[in-house]
Amino acid sequence: MELLTEMEKAKELVNAASTFDNVKLAKLIHTRDIIVDERVRYQCAYSGCREYGRKLMCPPYTLSVDEFKKVLSRYYMALLVQLEGEITNKANWEPESDRWALKLHDVVYQLENKAFGLGFPFAAALIGGSCKLCKECPGINSPNPICVHREKARPSMEAMGVDVLKTCSNMGINMEFSPDKVTWTGFVLLS
Ligand code: SF4
Repeated sequence: MELLTEMEKAKELVNAASTFDNVKLAKLIHTRDIIVDERVRYQCAYSGCREYGRKLMCPPYTLSVDEFKKVLSRYYMALLVQLEGEITNKANWEPESDRWALKLHDVVYQLENKAFGLGFPFAAALIGGSCKLCKECPGINSPNPICVHREKARPSMEAMGVDVLKTCSNMGINMEFSPDKVTWTGFVLLS
C-alpha cells in the first residue's frame, strides 16, 4: 500500500475506534514513540504480579523484550486506544476493573480484524494488563502449554516491556488515577 493510502486507511481505523462505547481516545502514533524498557518486564517478574507464569500471554511464555523490540522495529505506525470505565464498588473494584480490561481486549481485537480488512496484513493487537479471557489459564501446567483461545488472546503490552505511562506522557496524554474510574490502554500495530 502507498503511504498516503495507508494513512487514509489508518484514519478510517481511528474513526472506527471512536465508535466503541467507553473509548475515550484513539490516536495514531509513530512506533518510535513507544517506549520499551527492560525494567517493565523485570517488574512483571519481581514486583509480585499475580499473573506472572500463570497466563500464557504473560512472561515467561511471551517473546523476550529484545525479540519484541525487533518485531516493533518492523512497524512504523500504531493505533493507541484508551478505554475508560466507571468503578462503582470501590470496596471490591477488581472485578469491575477486569471487566473493563476485557472490554478493551475486545475493542483492540475487533480493530485488529478491521485493520486486516483495510489492508494491514501484519496488524497486531496488544492488550493492557494480563489476559482475562479465562479466569485460570487451562493447561498451563501441561508439558506443552497451549492457549485455548489463540484466535482471540493477545499479549500484554507490559509483558513486552512497553512502558505505557511514559509512552502516554511523551504523547501528551495525561493519565489520571481516580478511585471512581479505570483507564485501560492498548495498541494495534499497523503494517
Ligand atoms: S485465553 Fe485463556 S488460555 Fe489463553 S492466555 Fe488467556 S487465560 Fe490463558
